[in-house]
Amino acid sequence: MSEVILSREGLRARSAPLWLDATRKTACSFVSHAHGDHIGRHLEAIGTPATLALMGHRLQGAKTVHRQVEYGRSFRIGPLELELFSAGHVLGSAQIRITVRGHRTVYTGDLNTAPSRTAAAVEVAACDTLVIESTFGHPRYRFPPRSEVEDRIAAFAGEVLDAGVTPVFFAYSLGKSQEAVKILGERGFKVRVHPEAWAICEIYSAHGVRFPNAAPLSPEAEAGEVIVAPPRTREFRAWNRRGPIRTCFLSGWAIDPGARYRSRVDAAIPLSDHADFDGLVDYAKATGASRVLTTHGSADDLARELRARGVDARAMNPSPQLELF
Ligand SMILES: [Zn+2]
Repeated sequence: MSEVILSREGLRARSAPLWLDATRKTACSFVSHAHGDHIGRHLEAIGTPATLALMGHRLQGAKTVHRQVEYGRSFRIGPLELELFSAGHVLGSAQIRITVRGHRTVYTGDLNTAPSRTAAAVEVAACDTLVIESTFGHPRYRFPPRSEVEDRIAAFAGEVLDAGVTPVFFAYSLGKSQEAVKILGERGFKVRVHPEAWAICEIYSAHGVRFPNAAPLSPEAEAGEVIVAPPRTREFRAWNRRGPIRTCFLSGWAIDPGARYRSRVDAAIPLSDHADFDGLVDYAKATGASRVLTTHGSADDLARELRARGVDARAMNPSPQLELF
């Protein structure tokens, strides 16, 4: 029986008052990572030191008690034996394994199985029941190899600079921006970072991630700068006084036809911090889980594809009963 159930507040453990990535205030929630749709002003939050530092930055003024847990250290809440594993998604991101009476249930949170320059590599969390996110869980989402994606980012920056224009990469402030800053800086580009993303770079630095050739964006433009900024295109264009720019959106959604036009950018490159379809399927199989529950995004598509491959899988959608068994 799955230890993870869907309740009014979202996902929670069945046998103890532990919520999973609740966004409404709870007594105690596991926080898989610090993206806005996974955090809340809880009385107590359980997560890795990096996740709790990033959450504290995003929810300033919250009086949450932080219970820091490193990857691979087991701990208990009531009858639950618990352990965190790296999820490979952003700095500090974790999966949680909940073992009750010998049955192991893993909840992944957001998961990335491809290499990252700023997050620890994903660890396979062996289990009996797997609750897995499905953001890119449709077969149309297959990303190019990471090295090819990085080459395309560097090529865009180089070509735009050669034309005497400033390249601007739009990327989410937490996770994607730090990857972009690291990729470009390690290739020798002079990277200038929007203050919102730079504040998060500083938290990454405090946890050991280095950003060569990078500095905060200043009002005085210098020649040869490459800019990384949050994806608020119109706001950036209104603010920019640097002369001509060419823009590029960094996101897994770049794989969708028309992404470039919808985002009003000159280019879109599929730099993702989520696993693609093959990554999700391979991960589900690697855990050895005999039952897979899919959540978020393309949950129905991923469950159907897993069933076609012989896995007992179904989507974990809200139901009128609220609790799914
Ligand atoms: Zn996330």
